[in-house]
Amino acid sequence: MSSTGHINGSCDNIIYWFNDVSKHAGRVQTETLRQILVQNFETEYLKKWLKDTNIQEMDAKTLESLYTRVVPLVSHADLEPYIQRIADGEKEPLITKEPIKFLSLSSGTSEGRQKLVPFTQHSSKTTLLNFKIGGAYRSRAYPTREGGRILEFIYSSKGYRTRAGIKIGTATAHYYASDEFRLKQEETNSFTCSPEAVISCGDYKQSTYCHLLLGIHFSDQVEFVTSAFAYSIVQAFTTFEENWREITDDIMDGRLSSRVSIQSVRDAVLEIVSRPNPNLATRVQSICEELEGKDWFGVIPKLWPNAKYVYSIMTGAMLPYLTKLRHYSGDLPLVSGDYGSTESWIGVNLDPLLPPEKVTFAVVPTFSYFEFIPLHRQVLGSNSAADDFIEADPVPLSQVKKGQEYEIVLTTFTGLYRCRLGDVVEVAGFHYNTPKLNFICRRKLILTVNIDKNTEKDLQLVVDKGSQMLKSSRAELVDFTSHADVSNQPGHYVIYWEIKGDVEDRLLEECCKEMDASFVDHGYVVSRKCNSIGPLELCIVERGTFNKIMENFIANGASLNQFKTPRCTSNPALLRVLSLCTKKRFHSTAYGS
Ligand code: AMP
Repeated sequence: MSSTGHINGSCDNIIYWFNDVSKHAGRVQTETLRQILVQNFETEYLKKWLKDTNIQEMDAKTLESLYTRVVPLVSHADLEPYIQRIADGEKEPLITKEPIKFLSLSSGTSEGRQKLVPFTQHSSKTTLLNFKIGGAYRSRAYPTREGGRILEFIYSSKGYRTRAGIKIGTATAHYYASDEFRLKQEETNSFTCSPEAVISCGDYKQSTYCHLLLGIHFSDQVEFVTSAFAYSIVQAFTTFEENWREITDDIMDGRLSSRVSIQSVRDAVLEIVSRPNPNLATRVQSICEELEGKDWFGVIPKLWPNAKYVYSIMTGAMLPYLTKLRHYSGDLPLVSGDYGSTESWIGVNLDPLLPPEKVTFAVVPTFSYFEFIPLHRQVLGSNSAADDFIEADPVPLSQVKKGQEYEIVLTTFTGLYRCRLGDVVEVAGFHYNTPKLNFICRRKLILTVNIDKNTEKDLQLVVDKGSQMLKSSRAELVDFTSHADVSNQPGHYVIYWEIKGDVEDRLLEECCKEMDASFVDHGYVVSRKCNSIGPLELCIVERGTFNKIMENFIANGASLNQFKTPRCTSNPALLRVLSLCTKKRFHSTAYGS
């Protein structure tokens, strides 16, 4: 069995293959590790740890136990010097035998810093395979018409080359430029509405405008609406609310607004839409006029009557956008996307009928060699450890237990060896013998002043509670982030909110108090009671602030495709934007101060 499988043909074949590798997940993992090591044992990194062991002669089981005994657990920072040498053009095999021509930028928005990760043809192949497995389960649940269109809000980053000629871009940018992306469309016989020039133009505003225009042009043929992360769909329909008149005027006259200025994009789009279509334009105009009065509820099924579902990653950091996505999607089912990272694809959503809140990801045991570090929540009141969990020794995939939380460790075909991913997952169950994971959060502590420890998930729960109160004013939370401000004593948490709608100060004071009182972390509660952490501060920022933040990330090489609002930041440039845009501040009175 090859690491990406030999899968052509029907959904049934793919599901049969996936069931087979899942039944033998433990053995498949051992064999996957062997393949990675046999391919790469002559690299500088592996030689350092495996020395001159004759691994080709060794059986896979013995090799697995040797590998996990002698190769250390590392984080991305430990491998960075090797990756930097690749970027600088060093030709010796450092971490992979196959020369690396591409490096991917992982979004890094959770940690506020971008990381470089090797990308090879293997990466594109697994993306295609991942898509086929997920696609097979989706088309069982929601059959789509062959030859139809997909309205995809997808974006490539601009990318650049290092002085040594290594291409740097996001993993998705490499994928969209690969044969596999073309193959995916041919093999699944469903085609994205936008030509390549639109996807890769590097200006997300122009791309979004064209995606919407072309989506409407092909409106009867669109079978589903999708993006990598849910944020992009919400972002696109916020744009649509503002630009729909211009889009329908373009369709009416068979022209393209001057806001699309990149010539190659203009040429590619006009080739498709240059014939005036007054019938379509009038129909869409009357739908939009009606929807404007309904705050755009159900815009997606109204404009794309044949769409069967909306498909995107809606879990983890995307949960806060779910309310808005449901609003735009009306009665269309939401199907939550698969689980992966720039480092490796991990698991597939096998239950497309489940709502996003209940989605799990079945690990595909051929993608990488996965290990799992058991994590145990600290006993309440303990304040000695620098981290939020106590760790046990990593276990292989075949030994994970239902209900246990783990951090994922990856050994990939692209040169990462026992590298911590930084994500916390819980084993929710099994598909035959491969675990189905629940994504919990990014591992890194995000809010901490002293003994308090709050994760992304804790913050999300607190913000959910506070923002529920906005409903009474018919206002909504657009986006949020936070900061642990220790510049003055005592330190305190600052939460930034962008809100749509008018809200009285009195209510915002209540929201602030509610959030402060909703952090249940024992360290926080104790510190607040004795005022070693000061009152929580709620800052209301101007409309459009989070757009500026997103643009700031894109200007630094990220793409809209992978953008995730950082839920906590200490990045000075971001804090400056937030501070300049703050128009109101409230301080909590939850603990009497
Ligand atoms: P990137 O660094 O841009 O490749 O982003 C990868 C990270 O996005 C993962 O490590 C996760 O933290 C997050 N992520 C990816 N897929 C999902 C998913 N289905 N649910 C929740 N979080 C996800």
